[in-house]
Amino acid sequence: MAYQSTNPYNGKIVKSFDEINDAQLETKLAAAQNCFEQVWRHKSFAERKAVLSRAAAIMRERTQEFAELISVEMGKLIAQSAGEVKLTAAIFDYYAEHAESFLAPEKLSTSKGDAVVESSPIGVLFGVEPWNFPYYQLVRFAAPNLMAGNVVMIKHASNVPQCALAFERLLEEAGAPAGAYTNLFISKDQVAKVIDDARIRAVALTGSEGAGAVVAQRAGKNLKKSTLELGGSDAFIVLEDADLEKAIKHAVSGRMSNSGQACTASKRFIVVEALADRFLEQFTITMKGFEPGDPLDSKTTLAPLSSAEALKTLLGQVDEATAHGARVLMGGKRIEGQTGAFMQPTILTDIKADNPTYKQEFFGPVALFFRVADEAAAVALANDSPFGLGGSVFTQDIERGKRVARQIDTGMVFINSAAVSTPDLPFGGVKNSGYGRELSGAGIQEFVNKKLIRVN
Ligand code: NAP
Repeated sequence: MAYQSTNPYNGKIVKSFDEINDAQLETKLAAAQNCFEQVWRHKSFAERKAVLSRAAAIMRERTQEFAELISVEMGKLIAQSAGEVKLTAAIFDYYAEHAESFLAPEKLSTSKGDAVVESSPIGVLFGVEPWNFPYYQLVRFAAPNLMAGNVVMIKHASNVPQCALAFERLLEEAGAPAGAYTNLFISKDQVAKVIDDARIRAVALTGSEGAGAVVAQRAGKNLKKSTLELGGSDAFIVLEDADLEKAIKHAVSGRMSNSGQACTASKRFIVVEALADRFLEQFTITMKGFEPGDPLDSKTTLAPLSSAEALKTLLGQVDEATAHGARVLMGGKRIEGQTGAFMQPTILTDIKADNPTYKQEFFGPVALFFRVADEAAAVALANDSPFGLGGSVFTQDIERGKRVARQIDTGMVFINSAAVSTPDLPFGGVKNSGYGRELSGAGIQEFVNKKLIRVN
């Protein structure tokens, strides 16, 4: 069964869902197109806002119910799941509130005539989304685009089908007309068919580089715009004048939150020589303090990985790293005595540039530690990556932090914190981390027609 909830804490299959057939897919595409043409594009901002605000309110009223589904399907600690539900609601509210001003007509000062640029919706959009933040990934795409007057169809990851359905029902309950938001349980071949379909006007994918390349290539062949939010291997730079206690706190949360399964997780810890020993000592002590258990139990501090397969991949990367000279300072193995897909919190050192894992993304609680001579070496190492998503710089000199941030070749840099995501901050990367932005004012501009209307 392609779409299946398997609880990664105990390996039990919770629920399975059939893929839809081509005839059912056609019905859904037709309904989406009809909704766009006949209903949704004609709604006022106030009418669309009413739907999104209601969706936010429902999520807040039923936070626990939505949160439990995340924890059961992909293993997130329940408090973090509840945090994701609240963030999702906040993103609905943010676009409900600000979309009209973000998309307000812009009068141009032109030498002749009157000119204005208006933002109009482009039609049915298709999104392919990952499991690691099962609602947050959906709302980042759905909320701005629904407010802009587009309609949205989503293929969610196959291991979070209950969250996929819960989100679709949420919008229905909030009053979205049929076809405004559609969940698709479809195969990879059908993904290609959807991208080829003339009714689909643009495509967005969040996920791995491999999936991004397949989907963007298909979109390109069809001359359709795409945005890609892909992986990262974010540098966490600690300069010699950093507040060490703060750096440790953020290093641990940056690596361990969501069991390390975040694109903007801190993955490469780059510490200047003067602080390296003290950093490593305290980092190791704190990383040892995690206790595995049921993610639904609020006392648990270490969640399983999302699946047995994910654990296998990560263990394979650790083995490959050590086979090429890396040293395991702590961890490195699966946690014995647990049925679930638990990985020991791990720190690897001595990863040289010729190690094949040097440029890989470790999607789980595995920290790569590097010591460097100075700021310049830290920047050079941070940029020696195929990825360009986020990164952090720790220093007590904020101007210095900004100077370093400007030299880091990524879409986001955080000074004195691990990566954070809020509705009003743009999110996205460069290089192999993708292109385009989600969230903030930037996120709503990706799939609108900036139409010039000029009066002679
Ligand atoms: P993934 O395998 O690429 O899956 C993501 C989505 O793409 C899923 O819906 C998946 O469907 C679909 N997919 C995979 N291969 C496909 C193909 N050939 N054709 C069509 N669809 C395809 O990603 P993952 O490994 O589960 O997720 C983790 C990755 O996502 C990491 O690299 C992480 O850094 C990245 N990520 C990036 C961001 C960001 O905003 N930059 C956020 C979160 C995660 P199935 O589930 O059915 O395979």
